[in-house]
Amino acid sequence: MTSNSLRDADIAYALHPYTNAVAHEQSGPMVAVRGKGVRVYDDAGKDYIEGMAGLWCTSLGFDEPRLVDAAKRQMEALPFFHMFNHKAHEPGIRLSETLVQMAPVPMSKAFFCNSGSEANDTAVKMIWYYHNAIGKPEKKKIIARLRGYHGVTVAAASLTGLPLNHRSFDLPIDRILHTSCPHHYRYGEAGETEDAFADRMAADLEALIEREGPETIAAFFAEPVMGAGGVIVPPKTYFAKIQPILKKHDILFVADEVICGFGRTGKMFGSETFGLEPDIMTMAKALSSAYLPISAVLINEKVYQGIRGETGKIGSFGHGYTYSAHPVAAAVANETLAIYAERDILGHVGTVGPRMQARLRRLADHPLVGEARGVGLIGAVELVADKATKANFDPSQAVGPRVVNHAQANGVILRAMAGDIVAFSPPLVISEAEVDEMFDRFERALNTVTEEIGA
Ligand code: PLP
Repeated sequence: MTSNSLRDADIAYALHPYTNAVAHEQSGPMVAVRGKGVRVYDDAGKDYIEGMAGLWCTSLGFDEPRLVDAAKRQMEALPFFHMFNHKAHEPGIRLSETLVQMAPVPMSKAFFCNSGSEANDTAVKMIWYYHNAIGKPEKKKIIARLRGYHGVTVAAASLTGLPLNHRSFDLPIDRILHTSCPHHYRYGEAGETEDAFADRMAADLEALIEREGPETIAAFFAEPVMGAGGVIVPPKTYFAKIQPILKKHDILFVADEVICGFGRTGKMFGSETFGLEPDIMTMAKALSSAYLPISAVLINEKVYQGIRGETGKIGSFGHGYTYSAHPVAAAVANETLAIYAERDILGHVGTVGPRMQARLRRLADHPLVGEARGVGLIGAVELVADKATKANFDPSQAVGPRVVNHAQANGVILRAMAGDIVAFSPPLVISEAEVDEMFDRFERALNTVTEEIGA
């Protein structure tokens, strides 16, 4: 139990992100005090397997000493400098080099920010800047997807295709549009194959482009696997059908790799797993195993040439954050990437991922589970009231949140998303035994809720 004074102070003073304030006044916080491997411990010493790697991010677990050492060394050498106005520092230069070289498609330059949202906002501004620079100022609209998640700053929240991020904020801003979501289980028609469904998704996109006028559409944003929208794995042929449409209409493709980047889907980038050929990639989270905030935007040579402009013609790209390429965060990111390579993190995900997917698929037989899906070390179960009709539970029953609360009581931290979807995204360093333990704990919670609701 959290000490009363800490609990009271939290309720009195802290406004929590993404938290129902009224419910929080009743429940108070779960206070984590330390982490080890894939586990965190609360202030009563109870252990939890962190089945979400925090917020899909602590890929190397919670006690990697090399990342602490890298931060300490950089703090001692040069705790702050920047890359504005022709200045630079070694961690920022090295990180640019490494990211451009490890990109799955030819990329030209890296630009740094502090969060996934900032990276996506930066990408939006680069796209607008680029089209002004190349003399196509009318090409400014950006298409993202319903249920996509791209963050919470004004442009990123507009790209996000979830009602929670739009309502009460007067978003999305104009110039940002949404096309249909490639979730076959939920939106596929009776008897429609995944491939036919992918055709329909591509036709929806093309119809939107035609309606708006292709000459006005600048870019398309997509996560390889949609994360916060419900861990939605696209049909195999989806991106193969989308990309030629983008090419045909000269639309830039931005891959949001904030969750999928750095091994989550089994390859270094989700773009590789799903055959994406983006012009721009955004990444964050596992870039530093979340030990310090840092994100990046990679742009290809075409975009760079536009932004670069002819010397002196359009001046400098007027965008950047005080902490863009913060040297301590960059040093930690460099060390993180070195560890992924030295420890063959992709080989490890290749071994453990199938174990997690097998445990997930086993749940498909459970009476509450409509669909179990995933790839690599990301996955979800979608809970339904009726497996035959796929009917959702009444939201007032809060079945997903209840399962997640019971899971927490059983010692595993998971996340419930709209539509009673429960997500799994453990640290990439999880072992097979820990995968089993995570699912054993989760299944106990699922069975408890099944009894409670009499399903
Ligand atoms: N893009 C994706 C795919 C994300 O999952 C997230 C956060 O979860 C973001 C962008 C926003 O990142 P941040 O919360 O660091 O701003």
